[in-house]
Amino acid sequence: MNVDVVVAGAGPTGLMLAGELALAGVRVLVLERREASQRDSRALSLHPRSVELMDLRGIAEGFLARGRPVPGWHFAGLPTGLNFAGLDSPHPYSLFLAQSHTEELLAERAAELGVRPRRGHAVTGLRQDADGVAVEVRGPDGDYLVRAGFVVGCDGGRSVVRQAGGIGFPGSDSTFSAMLADFAVVGPEAVRRAGEHGVLAAPLGDGVTRFVLPDAERMRVPVSEPVSEAEFLAALRRATGSTLGVAEPRWLSRFGNATRLADRYRNGRVLVAGDAAHIHFPAAGQGLNVGLQDAMNLGWKLAAEVKGWAPAGLLDSYHVERHPVGQQVVDNTMAQTLLLELMLMPEYRRPVGALRAMLDELLGIEEVNVRLAGRVSALDTRYGAAADPLVGARMPDVVVGAGRRVYELVRDGRFVLLDFAGDGEVAGWADRVRGVRVRADGPVRSEGPVPGEHPVPGGHPALAGVRAVLVRPDGHVAWVSREETGGGRAESGAGWEGALREWAGAPAAVVG
Ligand SMILES: Cc1cc2nc3c(=O)[nH]c(=O)nc-3n(C[C@H](O)[C@H](O)[C@H](O)COP(=O)(O)OP(=O)(O)OC[C@H]3O[C@@H](n4cnc5c(N)ncnc54)[C@H](O)[C@@H]3O)c2cc1C
Repeated sequence: MNVDVVVAGAGPTGLMLAGELALAGVRVLVLERREASQRDSRALSLHPRSVELMDLRGIAEGFLARGRPVPGWHFAGLPTGLNFAGLDSPHPYSLFLAQSHTEELLAERAAELGVRPRRGHAVTGLRQDADGVAVEVRGPDGDYLVRAGFVVGCDGGRSVVRQAGGIGFPGSDSTFSAMLADFAVVGPEAVRRAGEHGVLAAPLGDGVTRFVLPDAERMRVPVSEPVSEAEFLAALRRATGSTLGVAEPRWLSRFGNATRLADRYRNGRVLVAGDAAHIHFPAAGQGLNVGLQDAMNLGWKLAAEVKGWAPAGLLDSYHVERHPVGQQVVDNTMAQTLLLELMLMPEYRRPVGALRAMLDELLGIEEVNVRLAGRVSALDTRYGAAADPLVGARMPDVVVGAGRRVYELVRDGRFVLLDFAGDGEVAGWADRVRGVRVRADGPVRSEGPVPGEHPVPGGHPALAGVRAVLVRPDGHVAWVSREETGGGRAESGAGWEGALREWAGAPAAVVG
């Protein structure tokens, strides 16, 4: 077998996963049905955790150079937006960047690591057995089989891999649709005027502006029906009283509220990620982001399995950790969609208008805003329910000596054991774990802000009294050891050696 993993689909999820697998030295083949890369802009926002993921791999610069940061994003189209600016992140903003650019940048990254999608080759079926999986492919020259250890369906909402792999996709079909249009020409003040009438409008860069419009007259039109320019302009006029000087549409599309979640993310040697695992209305712009985060969670675990060092249950933890996140996104998008849909129905307009006004007022309360912003930004994603609040959460990006940020230490995709007490030893795990001795004594303290980075003056509150932290390759915290106030030591689970065995498997000498 000269392929370890077949990734079906070179959308954002598949490209991200391919990069993660290649970084870990896994032989990966990406099969993509389309001949050419996607040109439609589609998703336009990379939320804070997604930008952090790029930072964790040292590739954020390319995204920041092409995108445009905005301080937050909307929730259910309510007038008071989610404010990301106050969140504890080196990237407390949403980055506006058309999906086509995100895909280009991820494809470049995968190519640098030696992976180029085989385009024009569609997965048509699969069979798995105890030793591997046979993936059926239709290419330009006919049908063929690829044998691999695993196959991951990153092949979108209609995933063939999911269906052929026996993974259910319960949920509901679309009952409500909205339209979007990207215009190259817009009148003066068009964005502001659209906003005043509840129409979402956002400049995409490249001189193009995105308008998103749910419309009472057209909201039951099936998503399969194309949007015409005349239809969109008529709806825009109904919503705002004018066409806002828009012209030269670059892309017109209709999208709906079909909502489904895979019943399991893994069935033996078959896994699903991204839209193949969850579909929902694109409320608050979360779909692409969740897909990237699935890929980041899965990549190192699958690599561990392929490389033979995965501790028992590690690969299954992909479902355990990511399925609840998918459920949460499905739930919050359903709630948001209902708030939009009912407003368009005359019989509900008044009560739902009152409900929206109430929610809008609540969003003005900082704690409420921070709670929802944490959820949509994915900064509050925490795996498991360990007693220590840091365990399972994302590692904050603190500066740990010599002006180095923790996020810079994870770039090669290994675990990082941050050792503030000087007693950790990672020699047997050096291929999987990087040991970083921060200082010989005392609690974590920031060395002060790095120019252009998020300052953490005086140390991060979540790290008070920390003696050691094991950071996973995806930037989440696996294990923590803290000084207790009484002078003792509190550890989540066994000591550092136990934590390394639990998460990074047996040390090399034992594996050998
Ligand atoms: C109008 C609209 C606006 C959106 N706005 C946002 C937003 O602002 N923010 C956000 O985060 N998300 C948004 N989304 C959602 C986002 O576009 C998707 O969640 C994202 O594209 C999912 O990425 P993916 O890689 O999982 O799947 P896809 O992008 O669907 O990629 C799947 C890939 O697999 C390929 N493929 C399919 N079948 C096969 C096969 N059998 N064999 C091989 N290849 C195959 C496809 O050609 C495709 O390239 C929006 C979606 C829509 C429709």
